[in-house]
Amino acid sequence: MVHSIKKDKNNAFLSGNFFKKYPNETVASFFSEEYIDYILRSLLTINNAAEADEIFLETFGTNLAMLLDNYEHIKGGSHKLFYNFSKNSNIFLEKNITSLWYQDEELKGVIVDNKEKLKYDAVVLATTATSASKLLEKNNKKLSDNLKKVRYFPVSMLVAKYEKDVFTNKLNGYIFPRNSIISNVGVYDLEKKNYVRYTFSGREARSVLNNNYSIEELIVLAEKEFTKHSSIELPKRIDVAGRVTKQSAYSLNHQEFLEDVKLNLIDSRNIYLAGDYLESTSIEGCYRSGVAVSKQILKDFESRGESENSNSETRKSII
Ligand SMILES: Cc1cc2nc3c(=O)[nH]c(=O)nc-3n(C[C@H](O)[C@H](O)[C@H](O)COP(=O)(O)OP(=O)(O)OC[C@H]3O[C@@H](n4cnc5c(N)ncnc54)[C@H](O)[C@@H]3O)c2cc1C
Repeated sequence: MVHSIKKDKNNAFLSGNFFKKYPNETVASFFSEEYIDYILRSLLTINNAAEADEIFLETFGTNLAMLLDNYEHIKGGSHKLFYNFSKNSNIFLEKNITSLWYQDEELKGVIVDNKEKLKYDAVVLATTATSASKLLEKNNKKLSDNLKKVRYFPVSMLVAKYEKDVFTNKLNGYIFPRNSIISNVGVYDLEKKNYVRYTFSGREARSVLNNNYSIEELIVLAEKEFTKHSSIELPKRIDVAGRVTKQSAYSLNHQEFLEDVKLNLIDSRNIYLAGDYLESTSIEGCYRSGVAVSKQILKDFESRGESENSNSETRKSII
């Protein structure tokens, strides 16, 4: 399986061919319990917040790909990247797309916060499948229902800053057993060993995450669990930030799901989808789905001869 990814990078994503031959088998039914606990489980909890009996071999290439990645955080943080990106596009922060704007069954754009209408030639729903499903409920019930098949599991990541380094060059992280409420703890940045990232994910974590604990309460639980399993004595904590959210674990029978989505999209001209549930939950996979959709839009508009006719105001306006 690893070799298939090394040979062809497409197999790291859900559009690759190699893993399509295993649609209905879970990771738990294919590998031994010991191998899962020591080697594979961390890949599943980190990528999908899921356990081995919840992930199917059909999507397992996206997990294995992580073993081969060697990315690190962007030096100096990612704000510069977003800033540069924002120079080329209109970015609206803190605005909710509450519905799609249709007139005489033709897509006109989107409606923001239930009142403001924004005109666009095409709309890419680059949201979670859950959010896309809500937006499509009125105009494409079949697609909306299909998108509900994408599974999301709860996850929380906390980053704590300590007075002194917690990790060393030799040891920069731990993975935790399946009966633990946290799945992994590690340095947040290889150059800042006093920043520690705690992740709550997997089945045991869900009972904690369903309790609406605050970040301050969660960090106390995480630190307690960490010191229970490691010999490291934590220095004084200076700060903590974090979020409770969800991670995609794809749909069951992913290829079938994709085929249905493609068919459903025929009924929604100028609506496109991108996101974590299509190619892979890795940022690289999300990016790939975005690139694919951009190419598709250009192709569709060119084939309909709309690129020359459309005025420049609306042509650039794809949200
Ligand atoms: C804790 C955690 C750690 C992770 N770590 C890594 C990692 O180290 N490396 C890696 O490659 N991947 C990582 N991932 C996975 C990766 O971050 C996600 O898969 C990816 O961000 C998903 O991208 P997306 O564009 O599909 O969706 P999102 O990033 O979820 O973006 C969708 C956006 O749409 C917005 N939205 C939704 N509905 C509406 C609406 N109606 N109107 C307006 N806006 C709306 C949301 O607010 C959101 O900003 C991690 C994920 C989590 C949760």
